[in-house]
Amino acid sequence: MDVDLDGYSVLVTGGTRGIGRAIVQEFAEAGARVAFTYRSSTSEAEALVNELEEQGTDALSLQGDVADTDVAQSHVDAVVDRWETLDVLVNNAGITRDGLMLRLTEEDWDAVLDTNLKGVFNFSKAAYRPMMRSGGSIINISSVVGTNGNAGQTNYAASKAGIVGFSKSLAKELGSRDVTVNVVAPGYVKTDMTDELDDDTRKSILDTVPLDRLAEPREIAESVLFLASPAADYITGHVLHVNGGMSM
Ligand code: NDP
Repeated sequence: MDVDLDGYSVLVTGGTRGIGRAIVQEFAEAGARVAFTYRSSTSEAEALVNELEEQGTDALSLQGDVADTDVAQSHVDAVVDRWETLDVLVNNAGITRDGLMLRLTEEDWDAVLDTNLKGVFNFSKAAYRPMMRSGGSIINISSVVGTNGNAGQTNYAASKAGIVGFSKSLAKELGSRDVTVNVVAPGYVKTDMTDELDDDTRKSILDTVPLDRLAEPREIAESVLFLASPAADYITGHVLHVNGGMSM
């Protein structure tokens, strides 16, 4: 995508794999300085930093759990210390712990809500002051499941629907500070998360997708890049559905 974000500093949570990795690469190709976080995939993180630096990108990897408030503050501080501003925050890190309600444990519920929703709160709160000073954009990754629901994913759907309400509220709080807050809600995307699906489930999903295929991570990343670009300066509180027509 032909977007010039030279001089922007960007922080992507969960940047080592899947959609997050594609987002990191998309921003790097647009000329931005890119920091990304991860929880345990240290070798992937090191390889990605090397790859980005070879391309001439100023890159930073940060290890820690997004559910930890102190970790989020220290990651945002590290970005601001290094590059002075934080222009774009992409809250991408997310997990699933699926199970029908009767079998879903409290631990499954807490793990998903803590990572997917509290993580978004933690990083947005840490980014609040730096972004209030110089403007910026926050882009949160939800899911078609947050809109449509899905049997076996009450915890995941609650976290992803929560992101929508959170983002619209924060968009109203931060609009006068020149900070936009938007959501990208992917359908099913080819990543480690969907590799776990069995063939029957995959086929039943494809039956509901008019474009008849899963998305490539890059196709989600391009929507994120658009929302962070000057072309989207007047868009806030929006949910951009990128789902091949699965939900209209
Ligand atoms: P992956 O499982 O491929 O990658 C997840 C990334 O998030 C990894 O970098 C992982 O790091 C990181 N991560 C996970 N938990 C934490 C944590 N507690 N703290 C810090 N980092 C963490 O996920 P996807 O790329 O598939 O999904 C990315 C986002 O897109 C998620 O929010 C997901 O819900 C959403 N989404 C995905 C869809 C899909 O079909 N794949 C569809 C709709 C939405 P590490 O490897 O170190 O744990």
